[in-house]
Amino acid sequence: MDNKGPIGDLLHTHGLKKTFIRTEMLELFMEHDVALSASDIVAKMTARHDRVTIYRALSSFEEHGIVHRASEDRQGIKYAMCSSHCVNESHTDKHAHFVCDECHQTYCLEDVEVPEVEVSNEFSVHRINYTIGGVCKVCKA
Ligand SMILES: [Zn+2]
Ligand SMILES: [Zn+2]
Ligand SMILES: [Zn+2]
Repeated sequence: MDNKGPIGDLLHTHGLKKTFIRTEMLELFMEHDVALSASDIVAKMTARHDRVTIYRALSSFEEHGIVHRASEDRQGIKYAMCSSHCVNESHTDKHAHFVCDECHQTYCLEDVEVPEVEVSNEFSVHRINYTIGGVCKVCKA
């Protein structure tokens, strides 16, 4: 497999080798405007992969600034594609997420910024979840 095309470039920029599974997973992220969990991905992949392989690929995408955590529920963590500004080990996706009460899908609200929060220095903050719940554009229509 060569490194050409947007997905090859994306993986290359973030220091990851292009593999079949990574390519297929990123295609899924690009096709959907909602966040995806490991089980969503397992269900949508054309080839059968075990969940552990998918979890591993997702955490390396997260480490390398390709996807970020969008929400978390009983079904697990849902991830969404990052903006092009995220780099390895450093995410700049400081936007809110919308979780629909009806279809339980998660959307990135890229233009809704998470307000600055002050946390005492006894704690070190790794991530901030700013989630808005309600009815999404699809269910509302
Ligand atoms: Zn990011
Ligand atoms: Zn909905
Ligand atoms: Zn997001």
